[in-house]
Amino acid sequence: MNHFIYRDNELYCENVPVRKITEKIGTPLYIYSHATLKRHFRVFSDAFKGVDRLICFSAKANTSLAVLRLFSNLGGGLDIVSGGELYRGLKAGFSPRKIVYSGVGKRIDEIDYALKTGILMFNIESLEELEVINKRAGLLKKKAPVAIRVNPDVDPKTHPYISTGMKKNKFGINTEFAIMGYRTAMRLANINVVGIDCHIGSQITETGPFMEALSSLKSMIRDLMDYGINIKYLDMGGGLGITYDNEAPPDPVEYANAIKESIGDLKVKLILEPGRVIVGNAGILVTKVLYRKSTDDKEFVIVDAGMNDLVRPTLYKAFHAIKPVVISGEGEMTADIVGPICESGDFMALGRIMPKVGQGELLSVMSAGAYGFVMSSNYCSRLKIPEIMVKDDKFYVARKRQKYEDLTRGEKIPSFL
Ligand SMILES: *Cc1c(COP(=O)(O)O)cnc(C)c1O
Repeated sequence: MNHFIYRDNELYCENVPVRKITEKIGTPLYIYSHATLKRHFRVFSDAFKGVDRLICFSAKANTSLAVLRLFSNLGGGLDIVSGGELYRGLKAGFSPRKIVYSGVGKRIDEIDYALKTGILMFNIESLEELEVINKRAGLLKKKAPVAIRVNPDVDPKTHPYISTGMKKNKFGINTEFAIMGYRTAMRLANINVVGIDCHIGSQITETGPFMEALSSLKSMIRDLMDYGINIKYLDMGGGLGITYDNEAPPDPVEYANAIKESIGDLKVKLILEPGRVIVGNAGILVTKVLYRKSTDDKEFVIVDAGMNDLVRPTLYKAFHAIKPVVISGEGEMTADIVGPICESGDFMALGRIMPKVGQGELLSVMSAGAYGFVMSSNYCSRLKIPEIMVKDDKFYVARKRQKYEDLTRGEKIPSFL
C-alpha cells in the first residue's frame, strides 16, 4: 500500500497534487511520501513482533537525511556499507549502537571511523579483513564487535547483478572457511565475536531462498556452539522484493512468520536489513515530456529525466510503471520513453504501452524510492535533481536541485595550463 493515488484524474502524493509540486520546484524531481515510508517501516517491524529484533534500514537504498531521520525516530537501526553512510547515519541521528557495517572492501580509514564511533558490529567479508580490523582495533585500544558474513551458496532467483549469496559472488565467506574464520577470530586479542550474518541478494520474490540461507546459518550456529562460540546476533540481511510490475513477493508478515518459525527458540537477537521493501514504493520520479518524434515503426517520447537520474531501467533492465500525472484520456500508444543523454541505453522504458501523452505533460515513474536518487550521477554535467518529502497536505524540499556552481566545486585547473 502506498500514498500515490489518483483523485479526479490527477496523481496525488498524500494530500498534495504532484502537479503543484512541479509548478514550484520544476522537473525532474523525486517525491517521497512520509506516510508510506512510516507505514512500510512499521509494518515490517511489527511483522517481527514477539521477537527480540533490530530493524537496520539499509542506507544504500535511500540515503536522504530526511528519510534516515524518520527511520531513526521510529526506533530503527542502520545497515551501512561505507564511511560516507556512517557519516550520514550519525548526522541523521542514529545511535552508533544500532549501526551494522557490511561491505567487501572496507578501507582502513573507514574501519577506524567505525571503531572510534563504536558501532554495533562489523559484518566481516574476508579473513584478511578480520586480521586488519583486529590490528586497527589494537592500535585504537578498542575491541571490535564482529559477525562473519556467510555466503550460504543459495540461488536467490533474481537479477545476476543483485544476487549476492552464491559461491560465484564476491560477497561473504563460504561455510567451511567461515568456521575457520570464527576459530581465528576467537584467538584474536582485539576481536569480540558477537554475530553471524548473511545477505543473499535483492528483489527476492519468494521465501524459499531466505529459508535455505537461514537453515545454513542455524547449522553453523550449532557447530559454533560445539566450539564454545556463542552467537548473540543473527543478521538475516535484506532482500525482500516489491511489486514493480506484476511480481507477487511474500508480504512482510509472511516473510517474518517463516523466519520466526525457523528460528524457533534459538536464543539470538534478530537483525534485519531491509532496504527496497521499505522505500521502493514510497517514492516516484516525476519528469516532463520535452518532445515526441516517430520513425516508420517507432514512437519516441523524450523526457527531461535520464539514466543519470534513474539508472535502474538500463542497468538491470528493470521495469518501472510510468503513469501520467494528469490523465487526459485520449487513447493509447506504444513508445520508447527516453532521456536527453547521448547514450542509446538512456531510457525509462522500451516499447511501453501507455496513455497518449504530448509535449509538456508530466509523467510519474513509479516505485523509484529505492536505488533511485542514490545511484544518480552528474553524467553529461546534468544537475542532480531535488528530493521532496510530502507529509499530509504539505511538501518539504529535502534536497535542493543542484546549481551549475555545484558542478565545478572542488575542481582546480593546474597552474601550468
Ligand atoms: C543492499 C543491501 C541490503 C538491502 O537490500 P534490499 O534488497 O534493498 O533489501 C541489505 N544488506 C546488505 C549487506 C546490502 O548490501
